[in-house]
Amino acid sequence: MYIYPVSIPAEKYNHEWGTIMAKEFIRLRDCTMVFDDDVVLNKINLTIKDNEFLTLLGPSGCGKTTTLRIIGGFVKPTSGDVFFNGVRINDVPPHKRTVNTVFQKYALFPHLNVYENIAFGLRIKPRGKAAMKNGHEGRRLSKDEIHSRVMEMLEVVSLKGFEYRDVTSLSGGQQQRVAIARALVNRPKVLLLDEPLGALDLRLRKDMQIELKRIQEATGITFIYVTHDQEEALSMSDTVVVMDGGVIQQIGTPEDIYNEPVNAFVADFIGESNIVDGIMVEDGVVEIFGKKFACLDEGFDPMEPVDVVIRPEDVDIVDIKDGMLTGTVTNITFKGVHYDVIVDFKGFKWLIQTTDYCPANSRIGIKIDPDGIHVMKKSVYSGMYGDYSSYSAEYEDISDADLEPEETVSEDERYET
Ligand code: ATP
Repeated sequence: MYIYPVSIPAEKYNHEWGTIMAKEFIRLRDCTMVFDDDVVLNKINLTIKDNEFLTLLGPSGCGKTTTLRIIGGFVKPTSGDVFFNGVRINDVPPHKRTVNTVFQKYALFPHLNVYENIAFGLRIKPRGKAAMKNGHEGRRLSKDEIHSRVMEMLEVVSLKGFEYRDVTSLSGGQQQRVAIARALVNRPKVLLLDEPLGALDLRLRKDMQIELKRIQEATGITFIYVTHDQEEALSMSDTVVVMDGGVIQQIGTPEDIYNEPVNAFVADFIGESNIVDGIMVEDGVVEIFGKKFACLDEGFDPMEPVDVVIRPEDVDIVDIKDGMLTGTVTNITFKGVHYDVIVDFKGFKWLIQTTDYCPANSRIGIKIDPDGIHVMKKSVYSGMYGDYSSYSAEYEDISDADLEPEETVSEDERYET
């Protein structure tokens, strides 16, 4: 099998940290995109490393696809620069960028079988010095070379034995794998994937996520992936870029993004979060609902107003007398592995995920370990996310008809601890 250029030169080994630092490959510098007077990307700065699986994640319209299209050369940024290997390539057309793309609608050739679909790109390879300079081999491949490349790709995408099948007879996941093989057979340095699993059902999507990660690791090609599905982003990526309103909100590993969101938007978009107002009393101490909690955060001004994120799985339900806070259960829903419990604390509804059953209307205490509390600076997103009142109301509408109507004074205020 062809060995993809994944080896990292010795000088890239970072002795200080003892880790291998992959080389910078693509850089976007201050890229802005304006369509019809609308700024849809606002001074994007992004570095993508060799062999990285990087995901652009954000809600519809945040500018993910536009960023991908700038990297692919399908659109030029209104201002700003794009570099590949340190060379500015704003004016280099897509076919000279050693980039290939897989879209959600993969458009295989229905009249060609699997083998011919994959071989197609090899039969029309560009030729000549200009093509060679841009990474193409610049010659027609022999029949044997084409055959070995196609067979190698079939192995990479786990479709060996399917070569003479009609593509229309394949499942959605298999067709998508043919599309990936077709994109990879030319050995691009970068594969751009724009919501490639969007058309597949949930089960197939999960299988394909594992498959895509395996393919990326096997080939060592840089994958730049676009999705609005946070779970997909967290499970596959080395690096996640969270975007909103044409602005990069945060760049980090999946763990960083989940555990250390920079603002309420990221905290809310990545998983479930209770986000409440707090006061940073001093390093390691934050006040929530008038009670002091130990936390691991520091570096804020004394008494600085902050946003505090508490993940539903980080809250322990305890006896009222042992609770750091006490609240009233307004709803409980069985989710298979755990219960989703909605709890009213002084009129603010939290989501708690627990394996303990707590009946609706019961009063509970909660405990949160210091590492379950994450403190963030106030931002334009403060106050917009992280209250489960509507979530609770949805449950109440569809489920428990026995529950008392919503109280204007919360139970917790009445029982004030
Ligand atoms: P989605 O997940 O829905 O695909 P996205 O995050 O990929 O969204 P983009 O496709 O990058 O978002 O679009 C960002 C904004 O730019 C949107 O408001 C879109 O309508 C606008 N836009 C994109 N392309 C054009 C264009 N060619 N002309 C005018 N507006 C455009």
